[in-house]
Amino acid sequence: MPAVLEIEGLRKTYRSRRRGVRHALDGFDMLVEQGQVHGFLGPNGSGKTTTLRTLLGLIRPNAGRMAILGQEVPDALPAVVGRVGAIVESPQFFPHFSARDTLSLLAGAGGVPQARVEEVLELVGLRDRAKERVKTYSLGMKQRLAVASALLKDPKLLILDEPANGLDPGGIREMRTLMRDLAASGMTVVLSSHILGEIQLICDSVTIISLGRRVAFGPVEQVLAAHSQGSVRVRL
Ligand code: ATP
Repeated sequence: MPAVLEIEGLRKTYRSRRRGVRHALDGFDMLVEQGQVHGFLGPNGSGKTTTLRTLLGLIRPNAGRMAILGQEVPDALPAVVGRVGAIVESPQFFPHFSARDTLSLLAGAGGVPQARVEEVLELVGLRDRAKERVKTYSLGMKQRLAVASALLKDPKLLILDEPANGLDPGGIREMRTLMRDLAASGMTVVLSSHILGEIQLICDSVTIISLGRRVAFGPVEQVLAAHSQGSVRVRL
């Protein structure tokens, strides 16, 4: 399978007067193949958000190389716009708008045909409740609406920062079904979490990050077995 995402030796150092020098990413590597639901697992502060924001060109790294869909970042960012859907911060939706109106507005602004709105509503399982106002939605439904907004342009790669955060077990199962369906359609999904159980339920492969470095990667069951045997030393 071709690599959809490649990161090698990524470094990002923050300097502040109050906290001094902080190596958020300390030579981080990652490889994600096409069609995977790939978990990006690490404790709070381990460098997940910094990695995802760097990948999307929102943060400039100090060193390292990254490629998305075979094209080097950041030079290729314009070329991959529309082929990458991302949610790196919880989007704020108008509470009085319905899901359909919200997505129609976003589609209009992004030059996406309105027919795609109905497709993504169906994909994320919100079609039956698309007329209802977002303020009546559960957290899980709001998360699925967020995913729907990232799917409007029919991306090849979907990047989600903590999409299962705060969901109950039912919401996590729904998220798992959605991610599996997307992967089955050929999309690659990278989702971050600091909760081992979420990754175990949702993903087929995983990269574990600790203190800005990759400490393990591979098929989820294999990596988590190594972690439970103590050979991957990170507290999760
Ligand atoms: P969380 O799960 O809590 O979001 P994370 O794994 O996403 O954590 P990051 O947010 O990438 O981790 O943070 C990595 C490290 O970089 C942390 O030590 C954090 O305090 C530090 N950091 C992140 N952003 C900044 C910033 N703008 N200035 C200074 N330090 C920062």
